Amino acid sequence: NSYKRIDAHLSSLGYCTRSEARKFLRIYEFYVKDERVFEPSIKAYHNDVKVNNEPLDPETITILLNKPSGFICSHNDAGSLIYALIPSRWNRRNPKISTIGRLDVDTTGAIILTDDGALNHKLSSPKSDVSKIYEATLAVPLNGDEKDIFASGELMLNGEKKPLLPATLEVLGETHVRLEICEGKYHQVKRMFAAVGNRVLSLHRVSFGGFTVEDLKEGEYKFI
Ligand code: URA
Repeated sequence: NSYKRIDAHLSSLGYCTRSEARKFLRIYEFYVKDERVFEPSIKAYHNDVKVNNEPLDPETITILLNKPSGFICSHNDAGSLIYALIPSRWNRRNPKISTIGRLDVDTTGAIILTDDGALNHKLSSPKSDVSKIYEATLAVPLNGDEKDIFASGELMLNGEKKPLLPATLEVLGETHVRLEICEGKYHQVKRMFAAVGNRVLSLHRVSFGGFTVEDLKEGEYKFI
């Protein structure tokens, strides 16, 4: 619950810039505790401020989003960005809201977005061992040895110096699998199936770090 100038709250939460704050305070009804304020330099605790009778947006935002296909996990790309799925004010926050790691444009499912830089760093580090569970449909039927190969801790992907950590494959059908991995190399799931002579046709991440998107429609998110 930070204590700072109203204009500093507003700009870090993306409501307006510092120079727009005076006008913003005239247009919207601002209260600090029970007192109407018009002066952007007044200092207040975040939790004491109300705008049009609503509390300010939270000081840190961490959400789980069910990513639809076709959205790119990047801040600067030409196509549809995943950030178009959250309120535009949230995209003007400082620090910025970013995805924890990335999903490919055609991958759907669980992705966390946060403006907590330390959390993001911790969970997106290659050393982070959070569990990620995927469901994939494959181009050709499994040949039966994939489960053991993935569990071995010896699978080498093209271009990597070290083998992958053991991963758990559950067969759901001859071209339908569930895979749990505890690392996150570039295009890891697609490259794992390429390494065993198969190809991923569609990929959905069911859960990240135990947070599942089963209760979220595509494009929906929830605070976690
Ligand atoms: N592995 C992939 O190949 N793609 C993803 O989007 C996630 C994991």
